Amino acid sequence: MSVLIFIDQADGHVKKASLEALSYGAKIAEQTGTTAEGVVLGTTKDDLAALGKYGVKKIHHINKDTLDHFDAQAYTKAIARAVEASGATVVVFSNNVDGKAIAPRLSARLKAGLVAGAIALPDTSNGFVVKKTVFSGKAFANIAVATPIKIIALNPNAYAIKAGEGSAEVAALDATVEAPKTKVVSVNKVTGEVPLSEAEIVVSGGRGLKGPENWGLVEDLAHALHAATACSRPVADAHWRPHHEHVGQTGLAIAPNLYIAIGISGAIQHLAGVNRSKVIVVINKDPEAPFFKAADYGIVGDAFEVVPKITEAIKKLKG
Ligand SMILES: Cc1cc2nc3c(=O)[nH]c(=O)nc-3n(C[C@H](O)[C@H](O)[C@H](O)COP(=O)(O)OP(=O)(O)OC[C@H]3O[C@@H](n4cnc5c(N)ncnc54)[C@H](O)[C@@H]3O)c2cc1C
Repeated sequence: MSVLIFIDQADGHVKKASLEALSYGAKIAEQTGTTAEGVVLGTTKDDLAALGKYGVKKIHHINKDTLDHFDAQAYTKAIARAVEASGATVVVFSNNVDGKAIAPRLSARLKAGLVAGAIALPDTSNGFVVKKTVFSGKAFANIAVATPIKIIALNPNAYAIKAGEGSAEVAALDATVEAPKTKVVSVNKVTGEVPLSEAEIVVSGGRGLKGPENWGLVEDLAHALHAATACSRPVADAHWRPHHEHVGQTGLAIAPNLYIAIGISGAIQHLAGVNRSKVIVVINKDPEAPFFKAADYGIVGDAFEVVPKITEAIKKLKG
């Protein structure tokens, strides 16, 4: 019996979302009186033993170069092998893009109940009940999982990273990994100061900014805060900004610590992608804009006057 955590990597480095999953999985192990183990696939540039400080005792490393590029089918089979090797009864993923592709496949393969979008530790006082968000974050559901193996995909930024002391045993795990059925022929990377999906702070612009020529306003504020930039859908549809910056129901769902929305009305489809943000600041010249209802702080004013002043003040504060 153990809790197995999938440790997701980008370019051979462990993602921040995986550290949250590790901390979360370690806590479940403590809660259920078992141990936490991790599984890493493919080449790594990080010191895996150091992940012990997040509470994991052992890391199973399936070091095959066929796993260097993400492939949901190959990853599912490799993780199923690690579940077998560890005897895991709980498997934890981050509910990020990779987790969303693998966890359902593993669930079908192992006939294991899956809770995707978990936001809290399971309640194990009477069975195994996990709280998750539903209806684009508008409501919660408590899901009881009764299968022998339970899979949880934890929402990014829903559980704080907890680092302590310790080192993990790293063990090579052999697994038959067939060549993936698809081949990566090229990788086009988004370059930017901060990747949107992992950003602690996001500055986002909407149609209220009038045109792409005014985006310096958003970028200057983002730069001052070391934040990522995002936008509403019509902005991406109009090619003012690239589509990978579009957040919302049909775009990326994010959960930063701070989301600053400039000239965005706050339509339900936009809120669906940002309402898990810890703090929301809205800047809009219309006091009736719906976004103010979801905001923690609101500034009623013209973005072209307000935002440069905020940027200046932040620069001054940071020296
Ligand atoms: C099926 C479906 C899926 C969708 N998915 C998404 C999605 O994923 N993401 C998304 O964003 N939208 C999505 N939409 C579109 C959504 O319904 C809204 O139309 C969109 O979010 C509005 O974008 P906006 O707020 O930038 O523009 P507007 O609604 O035009 O709002 C602009 C805002 O800027 C303010 N403003 C104007 N000038 C200034 C100024 N000088 N200073 C300050 N404020 C100013 C205005 O008061 C207004 O509130 C979807 C719609 C549908 C039907």
